[in-house]
Amino acid sequence: MRRALSVPLFSVCLLSAAGACLAQGPAASPSLSDPIRSTAASLRDEAMKGTGAYEIVRSLTTEVGPRPAGSEGERKSIEWGLRTMRELGFTNVRAEAVTVPHWEPGNAEGQILAPWPQPVVLLPLGGSVGTPEGGLEGEIVEVPSVEDLEKVSPEKVRGKIVFINKRMERKKDGSGYGAAVSGRGRGAAVAGKLGAAAVLIRSIGTDNNRTPHTGAMRYEEGGPRIPAAALSNPDADMLAAQVASGKPVRFRLLLGSRHLPDAQSANVIGEIVGREKPEEIVLLGCHLDSWFPGTGAVDDAAGCAIVMEAARRIGELPQKPRRTIRVVLFANEEFGLSGARAYAEKYTADLPRHILAGESDFGSGRVWRIDTRVAPESLPVVGEIAKLLAPIGVEPGDNEAGGGADLIPMAPARVPLLGLGQDGTEYFDWHHTANDTLDKVDPKDLDQNVAAWAATAYAAAEMSGDFGRAPQPEQPGR
Ligand code: ZN
Ligand code: ZN
Repeated sequence: MRRALSVPLFSVCLLSAAGACLAQGPAASPSLSDPIRSTAASLRDEAMKGTGAYEIVRSLTTEVGPRPAGSEGERKSIEWGLRTMRELGFTNVRAEAVTVPHWEPGNAEGQILAPWPQPVVLLPLGGSVGTPEGGLEGEIVEVPSVEDLEKVSPEKVRGKIVFINKRMERKKDGSGYGAAVSGRGRGAAVAGKLGAAAVLIRSIGTDNNRTPHTGAMRYEEGGPRIPAAALSNPDADMLAAQVASGKPVRFRLLLGSRHLPDAQSANVIGEIVGREKPEEIVLLGCHLDSWFPGTGAVDDAAGCAIVMEAARRIGELPQKPRRTIRVVLFANEEFGLSGARAYAEKYTADLPRHILAGESDFGSGRVWRIDTRVAPESLPVVGEIAKLLAPIGVEPGDNEAGGGADLIPMAPARVPLLGLGQDGTEYFDWHHTANDTLDKVDPKDLDQNVAAWAATAYAAAEMSGDFGRAPQPEQPGR
């Protein structure tokens, strides 16, 4: 969801003397008082010494495990969320009903049948239909991307298995994901329209393990629905090598995936209630659901642990902040943003009083950058917050933050957004795979995340002014 780095809007302010910086903003622009700065700095420094965040990830991944929408694991995760929020001392802990789609992966098998028979490792994409019982067979047609597939004539692919062979690039800010993921989302719809029997994609991931990466795909309303699966990177390499031989490559695919009736789930919410303006909300989000193959440690138990622990530490200060800090563990981010949509609908009337919202959903790598989407007049105070984070390795970014997928439905209310950008160099090695497990999470990195979120959320909840309203997104849904 992140846009590539562009011109920093408030670094000028940070680089210049404080006086010059303040002179740029209107007199009424918010600022941080010395006591706020010093409390935020102590939240930051205490968190760096060690937090309870890792224990939260351990508990969710070990005691609940995988929690895809509609599953028994998801039901258990809601109980876990309520119990853990209460144990951590949150107020107004509640589960708010959300209807979610229910899809089961079933078993998945793939074999290259010719020219050189070999089994391959693959996973169904989230939302795929199954194959006929016993599987289906077809000749492989390789394309470099879904955009290229759109230019292929139907005669070339009719009845065949399309193989979209696009490799994701490793980047610190994760921007390689956005560049590659369209084949996963749209590949089956495009191939189906051309008459293909099924679609295989190279996993959207940066590793070279035999661990395929699943993730959401969608069919077009009323369009053909063909099975879709992701090959691990080494298996995609092998299939490509066989295609490169010039001999016809035949493939057999079996998917037991199926759609079930919608299920009931819930957003789990807890609060640190503000002492002066409890109706004004600083929202810290994450998503409680995960994909099926791993235990969802980096996606997104880590994010939940970071925001829960950051808010808990603010709640333990001698006095509560002026505004309410609301932690939302969103339901079903992965397969359609169900929880996010339900939240934005339920709280439509309250969104104008959401003064800042951020979501931690990019693993457990260290925060290295702060971005926002706030009224330009309030950028000086963002600059002050960025200065608070500089000692823990965070640099100022721009004012074009996306804030997290679960915040997209709040865009019409122009809720100001916070993005604490994490180092995602390794995130896509594990994302949506069986390898997304607790061992990938470094407790010290989590502590640094907690430090950044606690200092930022506290400053936002305590400061005298606010962030105005976010500028209109250039494209709806960013
Ligand atoms: Zn996620
Ligand atoms: Zn995910």
